[in-house]
Amino acid sequence: MKITDIQVQVFTYKSKQVNDSEGHSHPGPEHDAQQALLTVTADDGSAGYCFGSPSSLRQPVIDQFVRPELVGRDPHDRELIWQGLYKRQRGSGELLSDRVLAPVEMALWDLAGRKLGLPVWKLLGGYRDRVPAYGSTMCGDEMAGGLATPEDYGRFAEWLVNRGYQAIKLHTWMPPVSWAPDPKMDVKACAAVREAVGPDLPLMLDANHWYSREDAWYIGRELEELDYYWYEEPMDEHSTSSYVWLANQLKMPVLGPEMAQGKFRTRAEWIVRGASDITRTGVMDVGGIGPSMKVAHLAESHGLACEIHGGGSGNLNVLGAMYNGRWYERGLLHPFIDYDETPGYLNSIIDPMDSQGYIPMPTRPGLGEDINFDYIEEHTVEAA
Ligand code: MG
Repeated sequence: MKITDIQVQVFTYKSKQVNDSEGHSHPGPEHDAQQALLTVTADDGSAGYCFGSPSSLRQPVIDQFVRPELVGRDPHDRELIWQGLYKRQRGSGELLSDRVLAPVEMALWDLAGRKLGLPVWKLLGGYRDRVPAYGSTMCGDEMAGGLATPEDYGRFAEWLVNRGYQAIKLHTWMPPVSWAPDPKMDVKACAAVREAVGPDLPLMLDANHWYSREDAWYIGRELEELDYYWYEEPMDEHSTSSYVWLANQLKMPVLGPEMAQGKFRTRAEWIVRGASDITRTGVMDVGGIGPSMKVAHLAESHGLACEIHGGGSGNLNVLGAMYNGRWYERGLLHPFIDYDETPGYLNSIIDPMDSQGYIPMPTRPGLGEDINFDYIEEHTVEAA
């Protein structure tokens, strides 16, 4: 069995989310947004699919780096293909990013699952058939009734608990919010949420990522008083020493790294140096499902939890096949956004949540996406 082709279709869909100048998403007016569908096909007619960003999955990148590595190979040889793509990254001038590696690798998993009639988490070796979700808020904003004040966060937290969420993570205010960042305001928002949900609900903070050691330490000590469960990325993650320092100062768990480059190798360095108490991976951060499983097993071998960054089909399948991660990150959530609304290019969302706050593992073969191929065909703006 051999791969014969790899294609990217860019299509439009209706979105009510906009990005600010630093890339944080917020509610906005309905508009046409773009999404890309990557398709890998083999000579027996089987195919695998994965969604990705049109800005990463550009045709010249596919043609120059991905196609030569894939075409002619057995699509089941995921590790061989991944290692080949990884070697090509160095000379690609950053064009072949982890955000290209990840959807390519996930499309290969999807192909295998569809062909064998099994969801990917079962192919990996199933561990659980459902996972609790934490509600992950959007970053703070300056919209009346949105996430503009600590009271707004408190009110929204009550709504999230009523919806069934078993834990909540705040993203607080970051630039370009006019007065942000502000450590005291972050603490006020965290206190308002603790006050709103009571003493028992696990709460987490994902703070502004460029605080100084002093500011990060101040917030951490306050979070300990509020009995927060983890503290995420308050400083630039490329300074491992800063995280070693912070983890030593605080009693509460520090989580990371999330955005630092270097895939599982960076996670290994953080674990050895004691830079965090809970490890982090996500399919888009380390180049796919296979490397995420490497991180999970690395952490497990050291007796550490590994929490998964972000939602979506790839991360959900990883959680279905690992022992040492507790939560699915569901979001990003905002009072003005209906997260449960199905976008046009899908027939149903991958992560429906029940009233107890659980997400069932997908039962469809492959990654489990319920793709509306007719919609994508009708809305394609660019296809190779
Ligand atoms: Mg984060």
